[in-house]
Amino acid sequence: MKGHRPFWNEKMETLSLDEFHAVQSLALKKELAYVDRHSRFYQDKFKAAEISVSEIRTIDDLKLLPFTEKQELRDSLARQKPLGLHAAVSMDAVIRVYSTSGTTGVPTYIGLTRNDRLVWRESANRAMWACGMRPGHIVPLPIGTFFIAASYGEAIEHLGATLVPVGVGATDRLLSAVANLGANFILSTASFPFYLMDYCRKKGISHLTLGIKGFMVGGEPGGSIPDLRKQVEDGFAAVVQETMGNGDMMGLMWGECEYKNGMHFLGADTCHAEIIHPETGEVLDIETGVTGELVYTSLNRECQPLIRFRTRDHVEVTQTQCACGRTGFCIRCIGRTDDMMIISGVNVYPSAIRDVVSSLAPLVTGEILIQVDAPLPSVKPPLKIKVEHSVSATSLDALKTRLQDLLREKLIFSSDITLVPPGTLPKYEYKAKLVEKTF
Ligand SMILES: [Zn+2]
Repeated sequence: MKGHRPFWNEKMETLSLDEFHAVQSLALKKELAYVDRHSRFYQDKFKAAEISVSEIRTIDDLKLLPFTEKQELRDSLARQKPLGLHAAVSMDAVIRVYSTSGTTGVPTYIGLTRNDRLVWRESANRAMWACGMRPGHIVPLPIGTFFIAASYGEAIEHLGATLVPVGVGATDRLLSAVANLGANFILSTASFPFYLMDYCRKKGISHLTLGIKGFMVGGEPGGSIPDLRKQVEDGFAAVVQETMGNGDMMGLMWGECEYKNGMHFLGADTCHAEIIHPETGEVLDIETGVTGELVYTSLNRECQPLIRFRTRDHVEVTQTQCACGRTGFCIRCIGRTDDMMIISGVNVYPSAIRDVVSSLAPLVTGEILIQVDAPLPSVKPPLKIKVEHSVSATSLDALKTRLQDLLREKLIFSSDITLVPPGTLPKYEYKAKLVEKTF
């Protein structure tokens, strides 16, 4: 019975590092030959960099190839409809197209062939299994059908759990599925459980007795911030585990196991993950405590293979060995380059600020709103932050001082905290907005 096994795909999730190296090197050579034959984008790019794919013999040689930036994909899509110069197949072979919303208003289109879809599903299933989803779980999915997150739906079905599509903005429908169908495992953004708790409180529903056993959260940093995770776990009597993917690369390829010390990399046979120094581009060794930007290379993708794609996701390696037996290294996401602030020469991410603030729970609720009055990344100190105190906070002056001291000590910047009453800051049904621009 698959339901009792600890892994979705034991062989691929427990390969030794040497075995991985061999599997990845073989897959990389095949993928590069394919890209070189079929992708106009990479033919031009490698020519401009004066490098031939024949020079890449193992996965360690990958660093010789140039990075691919998100802007290049936007340009490529603008130059050739429908799926860009980086598309390596004709539309006849494409069975699905997702879009990402994008900050510029122009969507990025992500196409999948039949094989791409199976590759995405396999990787998503490993992440779901690691996060505790099992056959028998009834899983409402509060996610729209046009984003890549919709691909989770068929992975839920393939895993053997019961999918209940709900959609965004349909919290009543989700709660009906919980009450009438016994829905008990929710895959959502990291913000959604907080939104749901708040929603239940306002409707006079006890969230503790809903019967939700697990949350698998992702889409934004924050799911693994200890005090915030505890609030959700205590609030629903449920387990919270984190997952991550990348819209341009693959739906889900990271999943946190029951030991909850970061998300395991689970897609290593179909995607290679590097961690680089965000300024120098140097490839960093995967060791506990290392931080840097994630860079992905497709190892089995037909429609839009990407080589050394810079994600702008900043991560920290939390461990390279785990008691669960999975051999993929573990990370937590610290933030995105787009959200990064530079305060007195120090890089600070909003999620790191929320992490530090929420460590003072139960005096604070964990909700914050950072206010900036000029374009990022440079911010003149003191950084203005609204922090929601809880009902149990009595001495607000002392709390304010304690928060400012703690932020100075942990993140090395000076702040100007405004404490606001519980329930004042907005709760987000989809993704949280931690920064408010006041200019
Ligand atoms: Zn583990």
